[in-house]
Amino acid sequence: MKKIILTGDRPTGRLHVGHFVGSLRRRVELQNSGEFDKIFVMIADAQALTDNADNPEKVRQNVIEVALDYLSAGLDPEKTTIFIQSQVPELCELAFYYMNLVTVSRVQRNPTVKTEIKMRNFEQSIPVGFFCYPVSQASDITAFKATTVPAGEDQAPMIELTREIVNRFNNTYGPTLVEPEILLPDNAVCMRLPGTDGKAKMSKSLGNCIYLSDTPKELKKKVNSMYTDPEHLTIDSPGHLEGNCPFIYLDAFSNDSHFAKYLPDYPNLQALKDHYTRGGLGDGTVKKLLINVLEETLAPIRERRKQFEQDIPAVYEILRKGSEEARAVAAQTLAEVRAAMKINYFDDAALIAEQAKKYSSNK
Ligand code: ATP
Ligand code: MG
Repeated sequence: MKKIILTGDRPTGRLHVGHFVGSLRRRVELQNSGEFDKIFVMIADAQALTDNADNPEKVRQNVIEVALDYLSAGLDPEKTTIFIQSQVPELCELAFYYMNLVTVSRVQRNPTVKTEIKMRNFEQSIPVGFFCYPVSQASDITAFKATTVPAGEDQAPMIELTREIVNRFNNTYGPTLVEPEILLPDNAVCMRLPGTDGKAKMSKSLGNCIYLSDTPKELKKKVNSMYTDPEHLTIDSPGHLEGNCPFIYLDAFSNDSHFAKYLPDYPNLQALKDHYTRGGLGDGTVKKLLINVLEETLAPIRERRKQFEQDIPAVYEILRKGSEEARAVAAQTLAEVRAAMKINYFDDAALIAEQAKKYSSNK
């Protein structure tokens, strides 16, 4: 069986470091590993509209932002098909058929959807489209016969639902669709990077993000105002690591070579953590290290972004070509789905002949 990746992001804002450690960094590695037959990366504008229906301009503006973030993070359109969801209408048709295979209570139990409904104050008035987005996500994944979905932990319930839909579909209509697997980051903190406020996950909708395109000044300001340990009142008092943002971010971003370069008094992160919990280490030192580490990661991304920003029409052209390519693949799957569901009337000469025979005796 071919190894195929489908993954993507909602164009609701620029991409942040949570996306980077949760999925984007991995995608670039997988792209360059050469182990996959096809890689599709989708800008999920139709999904973004499910909770931004009254703000199409926001979605429209952010499509190019996400595309620029992709290219500057290292996605290469020669190796990866980057496309815009709404430009592949076949995905909507697939979602419409899959909705028959899922119950309302099944979607209601989805923990990610539950949290998102609360976050958006949708409790009393959930748009039907928003409620159904997990089903639409199943069509995005299956349209490309994806085997692998690199994503953060919040996506696990979506992939689980997709697998259920695939099984129900294949059992009901015959083997047609491919069951995908989620590929979570190896490092547990990267599965759900918290925001700079230390509370919920870093999320564009919550305004607690460090963006890949933040300037060095913005980055410094955000790190310096990060939530640490409210009980760590003086340098000498023992500090706590739980929920302590700079340490969580160091877990996600740093390696031993960063210590040799920026803080040679400590061989590695564990030594720094030990000192902090013993007492005698100030938050300022930890934050300064984190700024250096993040700068090292983000500076080349920022530089590449500047180059891609010079030719915006070329970036739209990449998206147009990618969308065309994606559409052809989704159309093929849709044709198979229609045939399996017996709604391919005009392609089915046997059906027409059979009906003709049934009625021929009436002549
Ligand atoms: P929104 O608030 O609009 O939902 P978001 O910041 O949650 O935006 P998405 O576009 O929903 O971003 O997510 C895209 C991908 O990034 C998914 O694979 C998701 O798991 C991953 N991701 C998003 N936020 C984080 C995070 N804080 N930590 C790890 N992975 C994340
Ligand atoms: Mg999200």
